[in-house]
Amino acid sequence: MRENRAVTEFAEAESTLLEQYFTNLDRPVFALRNLPEVVKGALFSRYSRTEKSLRRVLLEEFINQPESGFGHLAGAAAASEDDMVAIRRAEEFYERVLVGYGDDSVAELAGAHVAVEQTSTLAAKALEDSRIGISPLEKSTRYVRFDRPGPDGRHLYHRGAELVHPDYEPAADALFATYSRLVEPATSAIREKFPQEPGETDRAWKSATRAKALDLLRGLLPAGTLTNLGLFGNGRAFEYLITKLAAHELPECRALAGDLHRELSLVIPAFVRRALDDRYGKPAAERMAETRVETARLARQIGPGSSPPSVRLVEFDPDAERKVVAAALFPYSDAPLDQQAGDAGVVLEALLAGRANRRQRAPRALEHAEYAFEITANFAAYRDLHRHRMLTQDRQLLGTSLGFDSPPGLAELGMAGDFERAIEAAAAAHGKLERDLGRALAQYVVPLAFHVRWYFRANLREVYHLCELRTTPQGHPDYRWVAQEMFRRVQEVHPRLASYARFVDLGERDELERRASEKRIDEKLSALQHTKSEFPA
Ligand SMILES: Cc1cc2nc3c(=O)[nH]c(=O)nc-3n(C[C@H](O)[C@H](O)[C@H](O)COP(=O)(O)OP(=O)(O)OC[C@H]3O[C@@H](n4cnc5c(N)ncnc54)[C@H](O)[C@@H]3O)c2cc1C
Repeated sequence: MRENRAVTEFAEAESTLLEQYFTNLDRPVFALRNLPEVVKGALFSRYSRTEKSLRRVLLEEFINQPESGFGHLAGAAAASEDDMVAIRRAEEFYERVLVGYGDDSVAELAGAHVAVEQTSTLAAKALEDSRIGISPLEKSTRYVRFDRPGPDGRHLYHRGAELVHPDYEPAADALFATYSRLVEPATSAIREKFPQEPGETDRAWKSATRAKALDLLRGLLPAGTLTNLGLFGNGRAFEYLITKLAAHELPECRALAGDLHRELSLVIPAFVRRALDDRYGKPAAERMAETRVETARLARQIGPGSSPPSVRLVEFDPDAERKVVAAALFPYSDAPLDQQAGDAGVVLEALLAGRANRRQRAPRALEHAEYAFEITANFAAYRDLHRHRMLTQDRQLLGTSLGFDSPPGLAELGMAGDFERAIEAAAAAHGKLERDLGRALAQYVVPLAFHVRWYFRANLREVYHLCELRTTPQGHPDYRWVAQEMFRRVQEVHPRLASYARFVDLGERDELERRASEKRIDEKLSALQHTKSEFPA
């Protein structure tokens, strides 16, 4: 029982009013509910400037202050013109509260869910590039077929005034046509190769085999392929994202900056106010764009040259083990960091030996060992791995000169010829787009099978996380290989530090990657059915 438990401090009428906004009124830990984001942000921002409890602040400074417009805002059923005016007035009130009581971090106190639909895969990468404060989720090329046309009957890839070129649409259409033509035969052939097993449900088998077929074909999709994604993030992260998009080299991303800003201004206006304003946002975006142009001018070009998939360790710290051990001992010692000493074998054993599964995270001390990897792999695999945030990463422009991957699985099905012809035709179109529209715009026509070069700078804790997660057997073979190679590079230089990443799977497979996961889903579904029948509605 906690001793600092609050006694209810509110009169009955106040309690009745407040209880709809808090999960309890008498305990020191409580959640906020039924409140607009801007009010929650404003409330939290008051913590730094008041001795009152949060519930008291809501009552006295918001509910009981008519000029706050709280009644209208919390009601949020603003249909009429009058209500909209009230809401705007309320927003101004909250903005004063936010500006008066906080610094930039106040904008982290409110969040929003934003859906971005029919955006190109290239733009989706730009949207997902934020590492702190935004959590994205995107339509999967493994679980969703991309051959269904849009309402106008056309294939779903980005078309824009900037991409008007006689070779763009024919090349993109041809890629989609090949994808569409191969989906059914590839699925049937996979089903023949991996027949349903005894005890495997129809649902599980069909899902796993379809996922495998879509995995084999995703390399045909051009980078302009339209996708849908959801972003949940805080105001500060969205503000920075909008500014970055406004500076982006792709017109589609610049348009997204305006779209995101407009929609977020309807739900968290006070938090994204500066994203495109004349004082901060616009000058910041202009500077980013200028810096890009200037730096690009200085960068070395070595010209075309095919490059097979590779993972190179370009930097590591020979002293990493000592640093990890020192960092592990530091919090329990009274000596400075550079005077820590311990038997590395014994300390690492104490620190890491007992991990029972990959979700038992490696401790923070591992962040003292750092690695820089340079990776060349197909864009589809990059697209998957790009989503890791606890690292520093950047990529080069997507082109066709580094070569492409033809999935071995397709060759086995006798479909590699069709795949490769379509990819090579797209490469020819890419050459013309590059010449006429420039390298950035030409990316749209490049199929995901083409190689791209990028770097990851990651500490050992993230290496554990990424390699353990991305080598699981259900992963796509292309990113699985990258994660395995990353891990092998670390093993080569730091065998003892790597040895505790027990859940990295370095095995080779030729199997139905999703089979085991689908079976687990069945077990969960049947457990749910069971629970339902035990507790009938
Ligand atoms: C089998 C599989 C299927 C997938 N399918 C899809 C899909 O269909 N669609 C899709 O969009 N993505 C999909 N992903 C990508 C996935 O959603 C993650 O974006 C990606 O794996 C990055 O992993 P992460 O968030 O664990 O790690 P990182 O970003 O590398 O972060 C490392 C760890 O830091 C912590 N962390 C980092 N950022 C945050 C944060 N903002 N909040 C809280 N904790 C944080 C977490 O503990 C996290 O595990 C899939 C991934 C796998 C492995």
